[in-house]
Amino acid sequence: MPNLRMKTRLGSETELAETAVEAFKSGLRGALLRPGDNDYDSARAVWNGMVDKRPGLIARCAGVADVICAAAFARDHDLLVSVRAGGHNIAGKSVCDGGLMIDLSRMRGVHVDPVGSTARVEGGATLGDLDHETQAFGLATTAGVVTHTGVAGLTLGGGIGRIGRKYGLACDNLLSVDVVTADARFVKASAAENADLFWGLRGGGGNFGIATSLEYRLHPVGPVVLGGVLIHSLEKAREALEFYYQFSSAAPDELAADAVLLTSPDLGPVLAISVCYIGSLGEGERILQPLRRFGPPLSDQIGPIAYTELQATGDMFFPIGLDYYWKTHFMKEISREAIDAIVSHFATVPSPRSLVILQQYGGAVSRVGQSATAFSQRDAQYDFIPTSIWSDLAESERHIAWVRSLWELMKPFSTGGVYVNNLGDEGQEHVGAAYGPNYERLVALKNKYDPVNFFRLNANIKPSHAGV
Ligand SMILES: Cc1cc2nc3c(=O)[nH]c(=O)nc-3n(C[C@H](O)[C@H](O)[C@H](O)COP(=O)(O)OP(=O)(O)OC[C@H]3O[C@@H](n4cnc5c(N)ncnc54)[C@H](O)[C@@H]3O)c2cc1C
Repeated sequence: MPNLRMKTRLGSETELAETAVEAFKSGLRGALLRPGDNDYDSARAVWNGMVDKRPGLIARCAGVADVICAAAFARDHDLLVSVRAGGHNIAGKSVCDGGLMIDLSRMRGVHVDPVGSTARVEGGATLGDLDHETQAFGLATTAGVVTHTGVAGLTLGGGIGRIGRKYGLACDNLLSVDVVTADARFVKASAAENADLFWGLRGGGGNFGIATSLEYRLHPVGPVVLGGVLIHSLEKAREALEFYYQFSSAAPDELAADAVLLTSPDLGPVLAISVCYIGSLGEGERILQPLRRFGPPLSDQIGPIAYTELQATGDMFFPIGLDYYWKTHFMKEISREAIDAIVSHFATVPSPRSLVILQQYGGAVSRVGQSATAFSQRDAQYDFIPTSIWSDLAESERHIAWVRSLWELMKPFSTGGVYVNNLGDEGQEHVGAAYGPNYERLVALKNKYDPVNFFRLNANIKPSHAGV
C-alpha cells in the first residue's frame, strides 16, 4: 500500500508510512478504518446528514487502551483529531476531514450500582443506553430528550433534560470522570483528584481530554411518570404560549415543560406543550390541571407513561441522516413581543419537519453557582432553538436562512448567553458567550491540560500560546 496522506493538527499535510499505520492497527483491540474499507462510510456518518467529512483514519476504540493508543499515535504524528461519541454535534465536530477520528461509539457499557445509586457509563454510550440500564432499578440521572444523543458529549457541555429542574444538569450529577489527556495520559478527575480538571469537564466540552467513562449520581425516578403533550392550534398559539410561560415559570421542580411549534401531519401547524412530572401521579394530576384546562387544547395526550417511553418520544422528530440546522439563545422570560415574533415567523416555515423549540431550564439548574462548574448559564430559564429540518441539500440555503432570520429577530429577548452544546460553527465570539465569566479560567485550564490545542474540533477554548 502507498503511504497514507493525512491532515496535521495545524492543517498541513503529512505522509504516514504504511508500517506505522499497520503497527497502530495491530495495537488496537477495535478496528482501524481507512477510506475504502467496508465500514468506513457508516463509521463517518453522523446524525446530521449535511455533514460529509472524510477522516484519513477512524479508530473504532474497544476500550480505554485503544483510546490511549489512538491519542498517542495522533500526538506522535501531530495529526488533526476529532472525538466521537453519539455524533450529535450540529456541525459534525466529531468527524474531521483528513485527520484521525477517535470513535468511542462502540464503548457503550453502563454499570449501575443500585445500592450506592451511581452509574459508571462508558464514553460512547447513548442516552437510551443510560436510561435503559438505570430504569431497571427505578433510577435515573439527567439526560436529554432524544435517545441516540451521546451521554459524553451532552454531559461535558452541561446536559439538560426532563428531570434537570429537580436534579440539576447532567454535569451537576457527575461524581468522577476517567480521562485520556492530550499527552495520552490516563487520569481521573473528581472533587478529590485533579479537581481543576473536574471543574472544567463540567461544561467545558471536549476541550480537555477524552472521557472514557463518566460516573453519575442517580435518583429515584418513575419507572412510571406523568407526561405527554397538549396540542393547540396555531391561531391559539399566542395565548397558549403566554399561559405556558406563566405556568411553567411558577412550576415546581418536579415538572419540566417544553413548548414546540411544529407541523402535524393531521392538524397542520400547531403548538405542542410537552410535560414530564416526576413526583406522585396524583399530585401531578392536580398541578397540571390548569395547563390542561387552558384553551382547551385540541388534544390532550398526557397520562401515566413509562419514563423510558417518554424519553423516546422525541426521536421521531430527529431521525438520523436528515439535514439539520439550528441556532440558540438563552432566555430568562418569554415576553408577549417574543411570542409574537416566534408565532409570526413560524407561519413562514419552509419545511413541514422544522421546529421552534423552547426547552425549559431553571429549578435546580439555577441554584448552582455561576462559577461552581464550567457551565455558567445558570440564570437561563429557557433555551430557544429554531431548527430547520429538510432532506434535499439543494434547498439548504432557504432552510438555513429561515433559522438565521428568526434567531436575529429574537436577539433582543436573549440573555446574550448560548448553550455550548447547541453551537456549531458560529465562531469564537459565541464560545465566549457560552462561558461568560468562566472563560478566562477555562483558558488557564486549557494552557495546563492542552497547551497545543490537540482537542480543537469542538466549541474551542483556545490556549494562550500563539499559533496553536
Ligand atoms: C437531536 C438532538 C437532541 C438534543 N437534545 C438535547 C437535550 O435535550 N439536552 C441537551 O443538553 N443537549 C441536547 N442536544 C445537544 C447535545 O448535547 C450535543 O449535540 C452533544 O454534543 C451531543 O453529544 P454526542 O456525544 O452525541 O455528540 P458528538 O458529535 O459525538 O460529540 C460532540 C463533541 O463532544 C465532544 N465529545 C464527545 N464525546 C466525547 C468524549 N467521550 N470525550 C471527550 N469529548 C467528547 C467532542 O468535542 C465532540 O466534538 C441534542 C442534540 C441533538 C442533535
